[in-house]
Amino acid sequence: MNFHVLTLFPEMIEDSLNTSILGRAMEKGIIGAEAVNIRDFAFNKHASVDDYPYGGGAGMLMQAEPVYLCVQDVKERISGSARVIYVTPQGRTFNQKMAEEFAKEDDLIFLCGHYEGIDERVIEEVVTDQVSIGDYVLTGGELPSLVMIDAIARLVPGVLGSGESAGDESFEDGLLEYPQYSRPAEWRGRKVPDVLLSGDHKKVYEWRRQQSIFRTKERRPDLYEAWLASQEEKP
Ligand code: SAM
Repeated sequence: MNFHVLTLFPEMIEDSLNTSILGRAMEKGIIGAEAVNIRDFAFNKHASVDDYPYGGGAGMLMQAEPVYLCVQDVKERISGSARVIYVTPQGRTFNQKMAEEFAKEDDLIFLCGHYEGIDERVIEEVVTDQVSIGDYVLTGGELPSLVMIDAIARLVPGVLGSGESAGDESFEDGLLEYPQYSRPAEWRGRKVPDVLLSGDHKKVYEWRRQQSIFRTKERRPDLYEAWLASQEEKP
């Protein structure tokens, strides 16, 4: 899978993606990522990519043409049609299901806004998905893109090593993950629950399941209600 991030600040993307698990996956060729500088597609002699919004108001707006040319450039270099994701606080809120859906694609184009955002006409022309990382406003789309790329990339087969796993985690099956413990069995007077030391796999499974349900009900009643409804629908 290849990620193409269209941005005015490519170094923000490059510096982050080259490290850790994603950096290792890129070195192995399992995933690819490039940051494309929208400024390279500026069409006037000042290389500007932003202008005042019609109708007035504070701030500048990214202009349509450089964004359009940048998207076209990436599309011409990749085969087939790729989804173009505009990261915006006005989009659908990103979640694990969306990460799973996006992880099935061969190429994803992320469009990062800055300033007051992007001229609406190019959004209408090229964008297929508008996605938010939550109900707050950031200065630019780079961090939201990186958040989504991290969540998507770790679902691509081979990205996580054998010691890391994408299964059994929060939101799998609609529940939060159960609590986990490592050595020592007692730490500052706090003991690991006996069942986890019992070696009885069935009991461990049942305990974890109960903990997941309890934790979800307590911390995320919205998720719990949805999970409960899905259980009732099951034949
Ligand atoms: N004027 C825009 C509005 O009110 O919807 C906000 C623009 S924001 C200052 C600049 C850019 O940051 C946006 O174009 C978007 O790409 C990105 N951004 C900010 N908050 C975001 C969020 N919660 N999720 C995704 N992208 C976000």
